[in-house]
Amino acid sequence: MSNFQVTSNDISTIAAQARKAQSEWALLSYGQRAKHIKKIGPYLGRHVDELVETVHKDNGKLKYDILSTEILSAVMSLSYYISNGKKFMRSTGIGLGCILMFNKISRMVYKPFGVIGIITPWNFPLAIPFSEVVMALLAGNAVILKTASNTVNVGRALAAIFEAADLPKGLFNYVEIKGEEAGRAFIDGGVDKIFFTGSAKTGKELAALAAPRLLPLVLELGGADAAVICADANLDKAAKGIIWAGFSSAGQICGGIQRVLVYKSVYEKFLKKLSILVEKLRVGDDLDSDVGPLVNERQKQKFKEQIDACISGGAKIAAKSQGGDLNDQTLFAPALVLTDVKNSMPVMTEEIFGPVVAVIPVDDAACAISIANDSPYGLSGSVWSANHTRAKKIALQINAGSVMINDHLMSYALAETPWGGFGDSGIGRTHGKIGFQEMLKAQVVVDDILPFSKRSLVWQPYSKKLYKGVRAIVSFLSGPSLFNRIAAVPGVMGIFFRYWKK
Ligand code: NAP
Repeated sequence: MSNFQVTSNDISTIAAQARKAQSEWALLSYGQRAKHIKKIGPYLGRHVDELVETVHKDNGKLKYDILSTEILSAVMSLSYYISNGKKFMRSTGIGLGCILMFNKISRMVYKPFGVIGIITPWNFPLAIPFSEVVMALLAGNAVILKTASNTVNVGRALAAIFEAADLPKGLFNYVEIKGEEAGRAFIDGGVDKIFFTGSAKTGKELAALAAPRLLPLVLELGGADAAVICADANLDKAAKGIIWAGFSSAGQICGGIQRVLVYKSVYEKFLKKLSILVEKLRVGDDLDSDVGPLVNERQKQKFKEQIDACISGGAKIAAKSQGGDLNDQTLFAPALVLTDVKNSMPVMTEEIFGPVVAVIPVDDAACAISIANDSPYGLSGSVWSANHTRAKKIALQINAGSVMINDHLMSYALAETPWGGFGDSGIGRTHGKIGFQEMLKAQVVVDDILPFSKRSLVWQPYSKKLYKGVRAIVSFLSGPSLFNRIAAVPGVMGIFFRYWKK
């Protein structure tokens, strides 16, 4: 048994200790907190290959996928949040909304929540928890982190990473606890907010558990992304981009491409280009492989069932990678391009965690948008076109938390762009200014600055005169014409001096 394994009962003790450490941590200046977090950079730099190896062993991802989508994004997020967190936490003045309230000055202030619970999945076991823990700590919170049970070695590597920051005892806590117990343990244990990344099913269960406490949650859930290929797109680039976003990490990515919607006029040409590239993909496990294995037998079986359901419904395999067999005992599956799909097939209705894209011809933008939005998910999407104005117009109509033009998925790695979805893809945001501020409670402080005032305009004692005066203010503010506004002035003046009356 490792030191990290805990039971549900332990979580409340850990949370209480974390709260104690947090109360001191939050008193430090941002610079003092950042000084600790900065120590992580050199540690990461010294342990890159070791971290790649650990993720590879835990979930089988190709080493290049790990380096480019986990380690690189972790390093980018570290420097971004260290540099920008102070700005995101700074209290800001709020401009006057109405002249009537000339005596009030308002400010927004941001405070740490206290103890943040973070629960993350196996498919990005390093990058997802890493950036969330960094944001939480810089914002002045304590953290309890639970990673997926099949990637505990990455969890332990994260514990070592944050140990390098020389944090106060009890501030950062990595725990190993079964998923089905973690939600209730975190909620009953007293965390102040939960950041959950995982399936929509678990996210909904967690939200229901959190409801009685009205515990705030950020939920980063599944996706079944669409890519729209316009007639004027650079088809060679689009085909390469679809392959990367559809098949990297063997298609086990929340924001991976599943549905490719291609204008009819270029459908055949695009399909040919895509197929040629897919047939060259090498499925394997070394540095020269393009598509790695699935995470476990259960995932391979599920992928096979989803593909079988599509094929038995009439879908055709238009292209298949080299290597990978759905029916053998290995974890390798072929990268597939499906055509002739129907709306009812799993590739159109469910999230598929495996290397497959369906290519569908569409008449025009309206048709593409309608199919793209015909999904319970709304995580990310893309539009491929040489005309950026047209692409942006289409992008705005796609119901997804982020839409990229002539690229897909990579916005997750941009620490500055908020990430999150609509519908079953979740609530709240991670990354960027909005994501950082999810780690903070927003508070408004309103100050009365009128010298010698004895009361507010609207406080007791009430009277006919006060009613008429406030009525005049309403007429003044909503007056349909300048004449009405001027006519209301005497009434307004009639109560104006109440501020100073005893
Ligand atoms: P999952 O079953 O929901 O598990 C995710 C995490 O939640 C794991 O740590 C798991 O722990 C834990 N968990 C399981 N049941 C729980 C419960 N009742 N209460 C609290 N925590 C619980 O998801 P998955 O299948 O591992 O991960 C893949 C899913 O994550 C996909 O749907 C994918 O799209 C989504 N995802 C979304 C994003 C995003 O940014 N939107 C990013 C990556 C992945 P155990 O491992 O111990 O069960």
